[in-house]
Amino acid sequence: MSVKAAPDEEFAAGVPVIIVGAGAAGFCAALSAHEKHADVLMLEREPLPRGSTALSAGLIPAAGTRFQQLVGVDDTPAQFAADILRKANDEPDAAIVHAIAEQAALTVEWLANTHGLPFTLVNNFDYPGHTARRMHGLPSRSGLELIDRLRAAAERAGITVLLNASVTALFADAELIIRGVEVTRPDGMQDSIGCQALVLACNGYGGAPDLVARYIPDMRGAPYFGHPGNRGDAVQWGELLGAKLLHMSGYQGHGSVAHPHGVLITWAVIMEGGFQVNANGLRFSDESRGYSEQAATVLAQPGGTVFDIFDERIAGIARQFEDFRQAEAVGAVIEASTVMQLAERLKVPFSSLAETFAEVERAKRTGSVDAFGRSFAGQHALSPPFKAVKVTGALFHTQGGLAIDKHACVLRPEGAALPNLFAAGGAAAGVSGSSPSGYLSGNGLLTATVLGRIAGLSAAKVATGRG
Ligand SMILES: Cc1cc2nc3c(=O)[nH]c(=O)nc-3n(C[C@H](O)[C@H](O)[C@H](O)COP(=O)(O)OP(=O)(O)OC[C@H]3O[C@@H](n4cnc5c(N)ncnc54)[C@H](O)[C@@H]3O)c2cc1C
Repeated sequence: MSVKAAPDEEFAAGVPVIIVGAGAAGFCAALSAHEKHADVLMLEREPLPRGSTALSAGLIPAAGTRFQQLVGVDDTPAQFAADILRKANDEPDAAIVHAIAEQAALTVEWLANTHGLPFTLVNNFDYPGHTARRMHGLPSRSGLELIDRLRAAAERAGITVLLNASVTALFADAELIIRGVEVTRPDGMQDSIGCQALVLACNGYGGAPDLVARYIPDMRGAPYFGHPGNRGDAVQWGELLGAKLLHMSGYQGHGSVAHPHGVLITWAVIMEGGFQVNANGLRFSDESRGYSEQAATVLAQPGGTVFDIFDERIAGIARQFEDFRQAEAVGAVIEASTVMQLAERLKVPFSSLAETFAEVERAKRTGSVDAFGRSFAGQHALSPPFKAVKVTGALFHTQGGLAIDKHACVLRPEGAALPNLFAAGGAAAGVSGSSPSGYLSGNGLLTATVLGRIAGLSAAKVATGRG
C-alpha cells in the first residue's frame, strides 16, 4: 500500500466518486452518492462482494423506526446514543455518536423504502447493553442476505462495481487532495483512475496479523473470524497521509464461536437464560456484560474453549439465525435429557456441572445477583432437553481506524479535515472506544451503513459541487 505523488497531467480515465471496498459501507456510500447524481465506481479486490458483511448476522441497530413502532417498542435516538456511550465508557466523541444514532432510523428506513430491504425487528430477546429492542434484520438473519440485497440494489441503480480490482495506491497532491487511485488486477496489470472524492470502505486490520499484534496485543494469534481481505489498507494510507488514527486497540470479539466447526452461535443462547461453563463444569464470568469482551475471557479458560449451556426453548429462538441452523446441521449442538447425560457428553465432571446448574436455577428463582455480578432475575429455568455447544473466542473485527468528523471526512491530528477523503465502516474509527468491552452489539453494521450513507452524501457534494 502506498501514497504516490499525483501526476501533473490528467488521468486517462476518471470518475467523480471512487469507493474502495464493496461491503455494507461501500454499497451504502455508493447508493447515497448515486442518489445525489454523482457517478460512482466501486472497486473490490475479491471476485464477489462479500467482506465481513457477508459473515455477519446482518443486524443493524436503529432507534425510532417504523419497524419498532409496529411491535410497540418505544425508543429514541437519544436513548440509543446514551447506550452506545455508556458501553464505551464515554470514550467516543459524543457529537459523532449522537449524529450516528440520529441517522440510524433514517438509514434503515431508506434501505427498506428506497431499496426494498425487508427488515423486521428482532423482538424475542435482548442484546446486552441495549435498553430497547432495536436490532433490525432480514428474513434469514444473515449478512449474506444483506450483502446480496445491497448488491442487487446497486445493480438496479446502474452502479458499476469493478471486481478483482485491488486498490494498491492513492495519488495525492501537495495539499493532500486525492486525485486518483492505482488499481492492480490479479494478473499484475495496473490502471490509474482519477476521482474528485474518495471513500475508503475497505474495513479494518483484523486480517493483518502484524497490525493486530502491534495494536491489539491481547488478540495476537487469536482466531480471526472476519473477512481475511481486510488487511488494514485504510489505516496504512492514513498513516502515510498523516491522518489521525483513533482507538486502535478497540475491537469486537465474540465469545461464542462453535469449535471446531467455526460457526457463530448467537448470544441469544446466553441472554435468554443460558450460561457458559469451562472444561471443569464451572462458570467463570458474568456472560451478560457482552459477547465482545467475552472473547478474551473464553480464550483464557483451559484449552481456550468452553461450553454454551441452554435448552430447547432457547434453541427455538436461536433458530431464527441461519448460523444457528447451520450449527445444528453440522452437529455442533449437543443434546441431553439429563444433567448427568450432558456431563457425560461434554466430558466435564458431573458434580460440578450439577452444582453450577443448581446455582443458576437458584439465582433465577430468587432473583439474586451471582458471585460474578450477573442477575438472572426474571429468566426461565432451563428444562430438558438440554443443549450445549463447545465454543471458543475470536476476533471479529477491529474498531480503531481513521478519525472522522460527523460528515465522515477523514481528519488530521490537529482536527482539520482532509479535502476529499472520506471513511466509513471498519475503515473509520468506530463508536466503541479503545477496549473490547466498549463494543455495543451492532456497532459494526451501524457505522458501516450509517457512516456509509453519510460518506456517500459528503463525497457526492465534493464531487458535484452541489450541496
Ligand atoms: C461473524 C461476524 C458476525 C458479525 N455480526 C454483526 C452483526 O450482526 N451486526 C453488526 O452490526 N456487525 C456485525 N459484525 C461486524 C460487521 O460484519 C462489520 O462491522 C461490517 O460488515 C463492516 O462492513 P464494511 O463494509 O466496513 O467492511 P466489509 O464488509 O468487510 O467490506 C470491506 C471490503 O473491502 C474490500 N477491500 C479491502 N481492501 C481493499 C483494497 N485495497 N482494494 C479493494 N477492495 C478492498 C474487502 O475485500 C471487502 O470486501 C460481525 C462480524 C463478524 C465477523
